[in-house]
Amino acid sequence: MSCLFCKIVEGVIPSTPVYQDEFGYAFADLHPQAPVHVLIVPRRHINSMADANQDDRSLLGHLLWAAAEIARNKHLDEGYRIVVNTGVEGGQTVDHLHLHLLGGRQLTWPPG
Ligand code: 5GP
Ligand code: ZN
Repeated sequence: MSCLFCKIVEGVIPSTPVYQDEFGYAFADLHPQAPVHVLIVPRRHINSMADANQDDRSLLGHLLWAAAEIARNKHLDEGYRIVVNTGVEGGQTVDHLHLHLLGGRQLTWPPG
C-alpha cells in the first residue's frame, strides 16, 4: 500500500478526522487554503475522476453529499466550493481521488 491517502484511510498516517462512513473518509487538509479545508476521499482506492467508471457513480454521488453534509455541520451558510483536481493539468498532486471542500472566506474566480 503505497498510496498516501490509502494510508490515511487505514490510519497508518495520522490525520484529523472530520467525517467518516462506510464509503468515505474526510480529514483536514495539511496545508489549508481557507478557514475550512477538508478532503473527502473514497475508502476504496480510485486514482482520479478520469479513472472512475460506471460502477463508481453512486459512490461519487455519496462523496458529494458527504461534502455538503460537512459544509452544513460546519455552518458554511454563506457558501463554499467543492473542487476535484484531476490529472496533471488539473493540478492533482495525490493520485487517490479526493474532493476539496473549501469555505469560510470569499473565494475568487477563476482559479489559477
Ligand atoms: P491535490 O493537489 O491532489 O488536489 O490535493 C492534495 C491535497 O492533499 C493538498 O491540498 C495537500 O495539502 C494535501 N495533503 C498532502 N499530503 C497530505 C497529508 O499527508 N495529510 C493531509 N491531511 N493532507 C495532505
Ligand atoms: Zn489510495
